[in-house]
Amino acid sequence: MHLLIVEDEAKTRAYLTKGFLEAGFSVDAACDAEDARHHLVGTRFDLLICDVMLPGEDGWSFVRSLRQGGLQIPVLFLTARESVHDRVAGFDAGGDDYLIKPFAFAELLARVRALLRRRGEMVPLTLHAADLTIDPVRRSVRRGADELHLTNLEFSLLVMLVERKGEALSRTEIAERVWDLNFDTGTNVVDVAIRRLRQKIDDPYPVKLIQTVRGVGYILRDP
Ligand code: CA
Repeated sequence: MHLLIVEDEAKTRAYLTKGFLEAGFSVDAACDAEDARHHLVGTRFDLLICDVMLPGEDGWSFVRSLRQGGLQIPVLFLTARESVHDRVAGFDAGGDDYLIKPFAFAELLARVRALLRRRGEMVPLTLHAADLTIDPVRRSVRRGADELHLTNLEFSLLVMLVERKGEALSRTEIAERVWDLNFDTGTNVVDVAIRRLRQKIDDPYPVKLIQTVRGVGYILRDP
């Protein structure tokens, strides 16, 4: 992942560059909009981090012009300003996120990763098992021509089973993934949730997808 950082304060620029290099990114750093334009020629970046208060052209104007020129990568603004108006202006200019100075590097890193991940999710992806189709972006589930309505929990559970179809999953593993909990298999929470899910995706249909693995948990089979 290749970042372009535009920041006029030398100390902050060096600190950010070092931090992202240590986190495994490639980094180009520019001191103002004009310098940044030179970096953008002929190089493909994955994300732009841009200070708002720059000498000469400010960060908003710079990003707005890049957007008008067709730049599509995520942009995160660094701003010393705190008013609602200024935050809105950043989004209007084509920013995807902002962080108010001073900030913790860990937060900036987390936001950058989230922006890059979100972009990755734009790629259409559907999951299949037999005549079951899941669209995780639209959060829709179909079996054949039927649109099925699942709760968020049932949806997460089904996605896990389909992503790992053919694999026996223990109740503990399911509980940890779906409920983000760490608990023993003494509880029947998983069994109750599976029963509800089966009522929707299996009971009305001749071919059953979810099967019980005695003494272990559950498996989703693609016949
Ligand atoms: Ca500045």
